[in-house]
Amino acid sequence: MSAPRYADVLIPVAVDRPYSYRIPADLAVGPGDLVAVPLGNRTAVGAVWRLRDEPGGVSHNRLKDIAARHDVPPVPHEIRRLVDWIADYTLAPRGMVLRMAMRDPDALAPPRPRIGVRATGQPASRPTPSRAKVLALMADGLARGKSEAAREAGVSVGVIDGLVDDGALEAITLAPEAVALPLDPAYAVASLNTAQKDAALAIEDAVAAGGFQVFLLDGVTGSGKTEVYFEAVAEALRQDKQTLILVPEIALTTQFLDRFAQRFGHRPAAWHSGIGATRRARVWTGVAAGEVKVVIGARSALFLPFKALGLVVVDEEHEQAYKQDDGVHYHARDMAVVRARLHDAPVVLASATPSVESRVNADKGRYRRLILPERFGGREMPKIATVDLKTRGAPHGRWISPALELAVRDTLAAKEQSLLFLNRRGYAPLTLCRACGERVQCPNCTAWLVDHRFRRRLVCHHCGFSMPPLEHCPKCEAVDSFVACGPGVERLAEECATLFPEARLLVLSSDMAGGIERIRQEIEAVAKGEADIVIGTQLVAKGHNFPHLALVGVIDADLGLSNGDPRAGERTFQLLQQVVGRAGRAKDGSRALIQTHQPAHPIIDAIVKGDREAFYAAEIAMREEAQLPPYGRLAALVVSAEAQADAFGYARTIMRAAPVGTDVRLLGPAEAPLALVRGRHRVRLLARSARAFDMSGWLRAWLSSVEAPRGNVRLEIDVDPQSF
Ligand code: ADP
Ligand code: ZN
Repeated sequence: MSAPRYADVLIPVAVDRPYSYRIPADLAVGPGDLVAVPLGNRTAVGAVWRLRDEPGGVSHNRLKDIAARHDVPPVPHEIRRLVDWIADYTLAPRGMVLRMAMRDPDALAPPRPRIGVRATGQPASRPTPSRAKVLALMADGLARGKSEAAREAGVSVGVIDGLVDDGALEAITLAPEAVALPLDPAYAVASLNTAQKDAALAIEDAVAAGGFQVFLLDGVTGSGKTEVYFEAVAEALRQDKQTLILVPEIALTTQFLDRFAQRFGHRPAAWHSGIGATRRARVWTGVAAGEVKVVIGARSALFLPFKALGLVVVDEEHEQAYKQDDGVHYHARDMAVVRARLHDAPVVLASATPSVESRVNADKGRYRRLILPERFGGREMPKIATVDLKTRGAPHGRWISPALELAVRDTLAAKEQSLLFLNRRGYAPLTLCRACGERVQCPNCTAWLVDHRFRRRLVCHHCGFSMPPLEHCPKCEAVDSFVACGPGVERLAEECATLFPEARLLVLSSDMAGGIERIRQEIEAVAKGEADIVIGTQLVAKGHNFPHLALVGVIDADLGLSNGDPRAGERTFQLLQQVVGRAGRAKDGSRALIQTHQPAHPIIDAIVKGDREAFYAAEIAMREEAQLPPYGRLAALVVSAEAQADAFGYARTIMRAAPVGTDVRLLGPAEAPLALVRGRHRVRLLARSARAFDMSGWLRAWLSSVEAPRGNVRLEIDVDPQSF
């Protein structure tokens, strides 16, 4: 049989279909290979999507030749199917989905040797303080990477180079840094309690047997879910299979990496946007070669080319961070399930507050639910009470009620830690002119500017626009008339400093100066007990282990309840349950106080009583009644343009072409919930159908019959939107 003569090559740009090329006789290419192909008047790199024996519609003579094949690992079969699956489901251009899975072949070339230095024992001819620092460091005789030596000695790389020229150091070639150290499934086996053992055995059996199956590992905060899935990881290691662990916030997982190392001897390979290009390339090739056994990563790790994937874990599966809402709109939890199915491997979704979607899937028998009903070691859940803000709130201009103040004082006296939770960054959410009522709004967005007093700026949380605080009102010209309305974490910190001057305060918020590295350090400081009162946004609710934490105060539980989004109830429940669950993980007798105007609200009531089932039962009944997800399907089509009329115009045009029937209803066009973002007006159409309906297929048929948007008009499609 002769070799195929044509190949369809998918190029990672905004195209939906692969292009056909001829395969030159002297070139062997296989499916998934990365190839260089002519595209217009340039050369592009693409992946071979399909081989053919005939040219397929186009005449042989009109096709161009593949220029070259790159000698790097091909895009594996499962990834190509995953790309197809995601493109078909989300309607994102196939090439854009491939882009998330493909690496630049130049970056995948074998790494250049690392250059290191070693002391020669000769003194430096011209001693300087910087040179002395380096020589003192290198006196131990160990070899170090050049930049490593400079960093450790606190000098510039130039100083190192100077010492090499001088003969005091010599340059040597270092062995490449290991990308992942060997993991030992028997390194430090944990002894599990009965519930953990049952859950772990079920998953281990599934890993050993292979085959696709979804587990919902549903355990209260502190129940030891991590130890359970670690046993499944151990089984995968024994089977010589690979594991992918997805986490919502990889940059904040230092605690997790250490726990992993305590169990398996070394840390797993990490994958996220923060790691350098060289290391990325090495992890990628290590994963493709099957050498890297365990990867922990953010949602982009979903696209790594695993050679023998035997287990997928999605930790904190309810987290919204798994949904990507720009470019390709996909939900990493759902796509992790698709990926596991493509590899015939089990997948574990773990959470103390499962998404309603996963919970319904478990109730219907599509997922197998494994329950850890109690905290590990018999540790008590915090005692939870409400503070009714209608009658027992704080005095005017303050946000800490007398009851919460007292609880913080007691906790301080007991030398334990308090956490005050307020999901609002900055100083105050709104700035208002006392004289005329004017509010300061972002010029580019439908949003108020938020007062960030530490930075002395008014900031838009949607587009990042900022400006100095106003000295006089642009409307009524009153001077110094602006007042802050409502609390943000900075203002709460001010109140705490006044109420508890002796306490060590720490504010944790995603926009702190110093970025993610600083946040990571602060989280560790909290874990070590180096703060008495922690004031934080939702950042503090995410799975951290704070052993000294004895009191959680929720400043305003009503914040998330009142917006019009049908998922508001679920989100508020998850957030409150998670933040309350940070308390008392190492010691009994912890408490939580929830400040609210609605102490009788069913969600608050379920939290106070620790009755998760009451929440799920009510929420699931509501979704079924209203035919909302997961009982119905939704897709949002957002049309945006510089002029609102253009956005409405295009939305109406495509709406007229919609093949409406009895199966699907189309609502709108109406202003999107955020009507103006970054200077673009947004208009939304919402499609609703029953669960059994092929929404993606219907959208595809419809949209292929309409003209593409022109000028500055853009259309974004979001199948399964998270807010609607
Ligand atoms: P979850 O993720 O369910 O909230 P964790 O996995 O963080 O809970 O476990 C809570 C605490 O209990 C952690 O400090 C963990 O080290 C400890 N723990 C859980 N299971 C065990 C076990 N089998 N042996 C020892 N410690 C455990
Ligand atoms: Zn803005």
